[in-house]
Amino acid sequence: MDDIKILIVEDELLIATTLQRKLVKMGYSVVDIVSSGMKAIEVAIEKKPDLVLMDIVIKGDMNGIETASKLYDTTRIPVVFLTAYTDENTISKAEATGAYGYLIKPFQERELTTTIRMALKKHEETMKMEQLATTDSLTGIMNRRFFLQAIDKEIERTQRYGNRFSLIILDIDHFKKVNDTYGHSAGDEVIVSITQIVNKNLRKVDIFARYGGEEFIICLPETDYPNAMNVAERIRQNIEDNFIPYDDKKISCTVSIGVTNFHENGDTYDKIFQRADAALYLAKNQGRNQVVYQ
Ligand SMILES: [Mg+2]
Repeated sequence: MDDIKILIVEDELLIATTLQRKLVKMGYSVVDIVSSGMKAIEVAIEKKPDLVLMDIVIKGDMNGIETASKLYDTTRIPVVFLTAYTDENTISKAEATGAYGYLIKPFQERELTTTIRMALKKHEETMKMEQLATTDSLTGIMNRRFFLQAIDKEIERTQRYGNRFSLIILDIDHFKKVNDTYGHSAGDEVIVSITQIVNKNLRKVDIFARYGGEEFIICLPETDYPNAMNVAERIRQNIEDNFIPYDDKKISCTVSIGVTNFHENGDTYDKIFQRADAALYLAKNQGRNQVVYQ
């Protein structure tokens, strides 16, 4: 068995240490034993276990069910509940957290291994599905659907805390000509190459997605428009200076970029997008290979 790391959340020390001994005997490693929800989240973030075994009645303000749901939202680490409770209400609450399994105490070693194995397998599949659903397969960056979810959260955050953000839409100039001249796989190379250049100019917090064929979208949190213009201009220049090797040729291309920023409370994604799109349209109309703010 590869080294599978497990975190035990259990307020009764004797139960916890017995469980730890069993797990180690089965070949798992136990990263820690904690007895409260707060501590569980802290340790899970720090030690990144592959799985959490979570008692339902634990110390502190949060019970195991609340902890599990918070833990999964922040870390995506799968949780298996351990409990003496078998009433319908508790079970359905536990199920609602998206738990990966449920062990009723006392349980046999055999149930323990099977439940852990099934939980890990189910989790791996879920992560694969999530990855497929949120990522653009050619470039590995976010897809449009995931971007729309992320931007909704950003707008909510912006409205709540009075922050600001900027939005950039970028479109490859004469992309059809690249495809027609060099073929579609050259077109793919161009798209991948441009993705890499954009990525080099972004921070970790920026949200970057492929919006459609040759169109990309970027949300720059906590960024006002002069700074967003600088980022956009640097991207435009880097792309213009770049040559993409393809067969024995070197393909060069340019991009047009529309920039806008979040105005004030009441600004919606539709309005923001329309401004950026109008700016992009202007950039195209004024001769391409340029950045326009609206
Ligand atoms: Mg307990």
